[in-house]
Amino acid sequence: MRTPYLSARLQGFGTTVFAEMSALALATGAVNLGQGFPDEPGPDEVLDVARAAIGTGLDQYPPGPGLPVLREAIAAHQLRFRGLTYDPDAEVLVTAGATEALAGALLGLLDTGDEVVVFEPMYDSYAAGIAMAGAVARPVPLRPPAPGGGGVWEFDPVELRAAVTGRTRVVLLNTPHNPTGKVFSRAELQLVADLAVEHDLLVLTDEVYEHLVFSGSEHVSIATLPGMRERTLVVSSGGKTFHTTGWKIGWVCGPAALVAAVRTAKQFLTYVNGGPFQPAIAAGLGLPDAYFHRGAAVLERRRDLLLTGLAAAGLPAIAPQGTYFATVDVRGVQPDGDGWAFCRELPGRVGVVAVPTVVFYDPSHAHLGRHLVRFAFCKRDEVVADAARRLSRLA
Ligand SMILES: *Cc1c(COP(=O)(O)O)cnc(C)c1O
Repeated sequence: MRTPYLSARLQGFGTTVFAEMSALALATGAVNLGQGFPDEPGPDEVLDVARAAIGTGLDQYPPGPGLPVLREAIAAHQLRFRGLTYDPDAEVLVTAGATEALAGALLGLLDTGDEVVVFEPMYDSYAAGIAMAGAVARPVPLRPPAPGGGGVWEFDPVELRAAVTGRTRVVLLNTPHNPTGKVFSRAELQLVADLAVEHDLLVLTDEVYEHLVFSGSEHVSIATLPGMRERTLVVSSGGKTFHTTGWKIGWVCGPAALVAAVRTAKQFLTYVNGGPFQPAIAAGLGLPDAYFHRGAAVLERRRDLLLTGLAAAGLPAIAPQGTYFATVDVRGVQPDGDGWAFCRELPGRVGVVAVPTVVFYDPSHAHLGRHLVRFAFCKRDEVVADAARRLSRLA
């Protein structure tokens, strides 16, 4: 059905599932494991800088590319964790969250009819950003392993190759990956890199979960592979790493000409944002390695709490390698395999909210994700434990 007044470009992008599910959580008093935002404040070393900045000159427009202290901190962080060198003046741009970095890159780089190869399921802003740019998404499915077996989501390299056409300009990558929790291996990234070099494609990589990776997995940025820095824009954000998702301080790093294209679009989207929060995120990026490791360890414990509850509920999960999301196949408890129906009924049945993974698929591929449901575990231990207890009543 056509939504009145909405432009043709945005038909089908009505309202996100998170609005409906969060309203349901509120109405039923259910534990909300739908939307992925932390329920604990970030580190004082970060919060105190923002508090001190409010009421000073930092309340006014920061420079268009971002405060120098933040751009320097972003470059230093890339060098410390990835071994990549970026010039803070020409190769780093501060944005209104990773969301604006992604939208700015898509709007700044793509022409009408250009194609973007993207793995699916995919974060919900990608399809909308591609549509706003007048471009076309070419989704490549990630196939889930058998739940509870320790396998990982995988793509078929033949399907990846087949998705590239004469109109392909960009490969849009996300690792660690939302909603699956997949962390792309070096070998998988090398397949993408080979394709990008062969067809002269740009790579846009969303790495907002770069620090949320569990034992046995390692985050690799495709920009570190040979020949890739020069064709890659790396996007990240402070929201997930520092529990400040409402601050919307993100950034993009890449070669000067690519960053300039993003900046051109970005300056007419928000121009700038978050003055007092920029130096605070700079302080966060400078925290010792231990801060980043501890964050991942805490989440790994919560992952295991949730997975135990889900298994007891008869819903063995696909264990995520990173992020704070776990996926289940509902067919064990919902014979018709309808993830949407499962999520609508779950708050009434046991008092937990989750989101149907099908919303992260292109409508033409809905059958691939119909039976899958995503749970977020970025909540305090007692909240995750409570949700696990409630879920076990499903059995
Ligand atoms: C949360 C999220 C974003 C958005 O990041 P912001 O900094 O809040 O704009 C982008 N990509 C993925 C995969 C996310 O999960």
